Amino acid sequence: MNPRQLIHEKVNDKQLNKNLEYVMYQLQGNRKKLISERYGDWEALREEGKKVKQNALSRLPELLERFEKNATANGIKVHWSKDNDEANEIILNIAKENNINKILKGKSMASEEIGLNHYLEKKGIKAIETDLGEVIIQLIGEPPVHIVVPAIHKNRFEVGEIFEKHLHVERYTEIEDLNRVARTYLREEFHQLKMGLSGVNFAIADEGAIWLLENEGNGRMSTTVSDIHVAICGIEKVVESFDNAVLLNTLLIPSATGQSVTTYNNIITSPRKESDLDGPKEVHVVLLDNGRSGILSKKRYSASLRCIRCGTCMNHCPVYHKIGGHAYGATYPGPIGEVISPLLFGIDKYGYTLNLCSLCGNCAEVCPVKIPLTDMIRDLRNEKVKDNKDDILGINNLPKNNAERKNMEIFAEVATNPKKWQRLMWFIDKFAPFGKPFAPFINGLKQWTTCRAYPKMDASFHKKIKNMQGVKYE
Ligand code: SF4
Repeated sequence: MNPRQLIHEKVNDKQLNKNLEYVMYQLQGNRKKLISERYGDWEALREEGKKVKQNALSRLPELLERFEKNATANGIKVHWSKDNDEANEIILNIAKENNINKILKGKSMASEEIGLNHYLEKKGIKAIETDLGEVIIQLIGEPPVHIVVPAIHKNRFEVGEIFEKHLHVERYTEIEDLNRVARTYLREEFHQLKMGLSGVNFAIADEGAIWLLENEGNGRMSTTVSDIHVAICGIEKVVESFDNAVLLNTLLIPSATGQSVTTYNNIITSPRKESDLDGPKEVHVVLLDNGRSGILSKKRYSASLRCIRCGTCMNHCPVYHKIGGHAYGATYPGPIGEVISPLLFGIDKYGYTLNLCSLCGNCAEVCPVKIPLTDMIRDLRNEKVKDNKDDILGINNLPKNNAERKNMEIFAEVATNPKKWQRLMWFIDKFAPFGKPFAPFINGLKQWTTCRAYPKMDASFHKKIKNMQGVKYE
């Protein structure tokens, strides 16, 4: 299915629309309530977070080396990988050296990015997801739909059906029952756990430590019960100090889930010491570049590496609300995905995702580290058009006379000339209402009205304002 068909399918999937709408508004509401009730000056905190991340990015090589030095001194093995092939190979070799044919995974978008599960499967190693959302989508062979809540597109009735079909249990619909089923299934797996894999939220250079956040305890199981713990860490996750990580954590959690703190905070400083009761005998951190240095070298887009993967730009994006993450066809969906997918993996491949944006600006307003997402999307669109790298969605497949460009030139001419603009408005005001029956037959309008209602153009904005009672309009 090409991206265009996929997007149409998602727009018309009523159940998906309903599920997303419900959860997205809930996440938005939780965030808003918490911030207004508990945070004195959220904006100042955002500004601080932005500075901390920007400072870390400006000294990234130095901080990465400091992290490696201190982590190594703590007994953690640090590996460098320039791309997904290298990262996958490192993890495979760790598993092979220890005769491991099954690993248990906590949630890790970096592992999704490098396609680890498929790679390991081909090499005869099974990767079992342990995050509840990831368990659900792994059972049905889907990728995550959201970077924080991977199965947000499924409601409890659908999850009940999935468990019935794949875990051969009764069809449950209550959350407690579904949790119990997942726990029983995972407990079985945890009994055989030898190697656990996780992502990293913050790598702390001064401490040589990593910090993982989670709500289910599966991350702690994967990282403490196993003999070997491997963490995959994008190089942009490194920060200088523990205080810096605390500040970013304070921004991350309310933005992600509307909680003030996550249930589990796992700060891993070393492998198990002699006096420790538990913990892995070996801890490995795989530092992943995979195109991040390339982004860092582009002044216009380097700020996208400030992302702390909270997902709130998705939760506030009207386009994501309608189509969900799968329609983007990339590991990272939503506004941040539109920026980093083309930058990391090529504008030829993911440039089409740039069209999935109305430039409403919601994402940039809520981003806890103030990434100017809409500016970046607009600039990338500009590059895409300039390089003629358009386009899987077919925007440039318009007739060879370059109709889109011509139309925009005409629009610019009219929109910048008040007299012409007023004449156009008069014309629309008078005649547009009669156009409705013809819309499905007019090229351009046909595409527009496939997924949208024909606009009600019954009066110009000026006329509406003039007609408003009690409002004096000059
Ligand atoms: S871009 Fe900002 S809002 Fe979006 S996931 Fe990253 S930190 Fe969160």
